[in-house]
Amino acid sequence: MSTLDQKLLERLAAQHTAQLYRYYSTRSNACMASAEYGQENYLAFISNDYLGLANHPALIEAVQKATAIYGVGSGAAHAVSGHCAIHEELEQALAKFTGRTAAIVFSTGYMANLGVLSTLAGEKDSIFADRLVHASLIDGIRLSGARLVRYQHNSIENLQTKLSRYRQGQALIASDGVFSMDGDIAPIPELAQIAQEQDAALLIDDAHGFGVLGKNGGGCCEHYNLNEQAVPILMGTLSKAFGCFGAFVAGSELLIENLRQFARTYMYTTALPPLLAQASLASLELLQKENWRREHLQQLISYFRAGAQQLNLPIMPSTTPIQPLLVGDNEKLIKLQTTLKQQGFLVGAIRPPTVPTNTARLRISLNVHHTQQDVENLLTVIAAAMANFI
Ligand SMILES: *Cc1c(COP(=O)(O)O)cnc(C)c1O
Repeated sequence: MSTLDQKLLERLAAQHTAQLYRYYSTRSNACMASAEYGQENYLAFISNDYLGLANHPALIEAVQKATAIYGVGSGAAHAVSGHCAIHEELEQALAKFTGRTAAIVFSTGYMANLGVLSTLAGEKDSIFADRLVHASLIDGIRLSGARLVRYQHNSIENLQTKLSRYRQGQALIASDGVFSMDGDIAPIPELAQIAQEQDAALLIDDAHGFGVLGKNGGGCCEHYNLNEQAVPILMGTLSKAFGCFGAFVAGSELLIENLRQFARTYMYTTALPPLLAQASLASLELLQKENWRREHLQQLISYFRAGAQQLNLPIMPSTTPIQPLLVGDNEKLIKLQTTLKQQGFLVGAIRPPTVPTNTARLRISLNVHHTQQDVENLLTVIAAAMANFI
């Protein structure tokens, strides 16, 4: 066996031993309340399709319409011939939706974060990131070569201390709007204030806020009523509440034009298929118009939290559809998840390195397809399973 193969084998074995091995099962139905895996069917609380749009007839129709015009692939990067009228239309609609001057569409959120951070910061600069930011922000900071400084989760005081101690060159503050594994919302008004006082740039990744938060689904910035001046670099995905695929960054003309000229993850990758841009436009219309989706979601969230509290389940301070239950130990978590699965319920089991060591958790994602009865049933089985393992 080659030394590389030997190393790869050992690494997988260690992953098993640490209860960190990831299994990739294959789902065979569309996004809905239940998830089908071959012959097995589960009530599922694991998707980011919060508003239930991924499978919506209007999106399917939009895809068919766009396919008739554009076919499937975009054929090239934006800078070559991939940039289509429908991309332009989507960018303008997203700028309007976010109340920003301009927007640029990326092929994924991961690439958007890599592109923005590597365009705006370099080796002489410093980026201050909340300890719990999404992996794509960390990778973007690494790619930029800037000094990475982590501050304690949602701690303005700690951010201030770190800024005064470690600032170099251009300073940039980066945070998730809604934290993907915790579900809590960042104190963005305070972050914006510090950023302005200290002449630092502020990037908010609102992957989980768009569509869900704010009266019209405008995300964290609508929730807190923060304009382009307060949050100058606003990133969102089209893959979560939008139910599609892709991502965008919204901000000033100057920012967006710089991304078009210098973001390598925009320039050197094939443009988003036009059919997805068309579907995103359909989604954007629905998610603004159909308030009942957000209202239903809010009811489910309240119902879940009240029920979990009554059952003494270890809820975390989240007011969003992401509702984690803190377990701590990896092995206990896997046992719990397995027990729930045996009873027909699918929930996330989030372990390090996705979350800090000893904070393994069940991650329950609520969506519009769920009913109060679904939530009640889930709580009942979790409470029973937890009583056995913890
Ligand atoms: C999902 C997610 C991303 C990545 O978006 P993709 O479009 O899936 O690549 C980035 N940031 C956060 C906070 C996310 O939750």
